[in-house]
Amino acid sequence: SLEQALRLSLGLVVLQTKDREHLYSQNYACSLCGHSLSEIEPRMFSFNSPLGACEACKGLGSIQKIDLARIINPRLSYSEGGILPLNRLLMTETWYTRLIKTVAQEEHVSLTTPLGDLSAREMHILLHGTGKKYVVAGTNKQGRPTKITEVWNGIVNRLEEKYFETQSEWSRLDLNQYMKEELCPTCLGAKLKAEVLAITIDGQNINELTHQSVTTLLQYFKNDLVSLLNPYESQVGDGIIKEVTSRLTFLHNVGLGYLDLARQSKTLSGGEQQRIRLASQIGTGLTGVLYVLDEPSIGLHSRDVDALIASLKRLVDLGNTLIVVEHDEKTIRAADYLVELGPSAGVHGGKLIAQGTVPEIIKDKHSLTGAYLSGDKTIPGEIRPLNTTSGTLKLEGCRSHNLKNLSLHLPLGNLIGITGVSGGGKSTLITETLYPALKYYLDGTFFDHMG
Ligand SMILES: [Zn+2]
Ligand SMILES: [Zn+2]
Repeated sequence: SLEQALRLSLGLVVLQTKDREHLYSQNYACSLCGHSLSEIEPRMFSFNSPLGACEACKGLGSIQKIDLARIINPRLSYSEGGILPLNRLLMTETWYTRLIKTVAQEEHVSLTTPLGDLSAREMHILLHGTGKKYVVAGTNKQGRPTKITEVWNGIVNRLEEKYFETQSEWSRLDLNQYMKEELCPTCLGAKLKAEVLAITIDGQNINELTHQSVTTLLQYFKNDLVSLLNPYESQVGDGIIKEVTSRLTFLHNVGLGYLDLARQSKTLSGGEQQRIRLASQIGTGLTGVLYVLDEPSIGLHSRDVDALIASLKRLVDLGNTLIVVEHDEKTIRAADYLVELGPSAGVHGGKLIAQGTVPEIIKDKHSLTGAYLSGDKTIPGEIRPLNTTSGTLKLEGCRSHNLKNLSLHLPLGNLIGITGVSGGGKSTLITETLYPALKYYLDGTFFDHMG
């Protein structure tokens, strides 16, 4: 009978329970205005998807508006080129310039008075229009006199229309100099449609959630939210909450707990970007991958370095190889295998000084790193046996920059630290020699200089 009622009512049904009536809609529609939502799906919560993006700003959170201060020279009249983007237009007569002249005549706006001396009414008509129709006289393509009727919406509207409609990159760049970025008045920077922002969990919408730090959210999803759910809700939400907390945990574990999820990626430092990629790699659970990292610990607090190291080891445990260029003592100590380059910077560097496990390096009399590590009386953390069963990576005859014809074998399946003084050749060896060589081997192409 419920199904029949729904069919008859086009999806609306009222259920009578003991104390009150409940109105339900099959189509997620409002009973008063019929306004309906499409079925809720993950894409709706992304401002990169047209399903979710605010229509006014296309999901950018801001819109480009004409900046009046940039288009007007108050000391010049319209006829003298006081409206800067129209300067080129003034040299030839067009339907648009004739429209402006017609409007000016009929509305008594002076085109020869400096713009700074015009009344507010006159400026408003020029810039924002009247919304009225005007008949403009001119000649058609055959040279015969003709008339067109045109609505006057003002110069600002015309320029903004042109900015959004033009197919020419040049015109857009040209107009861009007269624009400024303003907060989108529709979504107020939230980037999503009002319908999407109306969907809340525990009173918060997705925009409010993503403006909190990873650590705060992790706490919220792990504890606070779970305690609020009734058994039915827990059953429904369990899978999603697990997914969300596991991703937040990855970010937290690479020392990014302080970031909020709404942070734009272009504002992240190099170290932060490396750690985000690392977090997403841990999430994929891939094995047999070789990762090359250049000082991932840079800018981290000491306690966050511990979490980062745990994440690096986790990747190794999954069956991957990590080659890390690093100065940080904790990370060096955590390595399964170390390679030291030196002995000093520039022309005096580029030699292989020592290689081996941390205890081997500490015993090695040539190694500066070893001397440095042994100076500290604390015994290096739990020492894991070196993985020698996953094969080796051979680098031979490396001569780029200051490298002195190096050859070395790296045991795969380990956390490998590349250490040594600054300028000793670490980055040259790894990011300019090993990485391009591997890329060339795998892709067949590498366009930068290859060591
Ligand atoms: Zn409604
Ligand atoms: Zn918007």
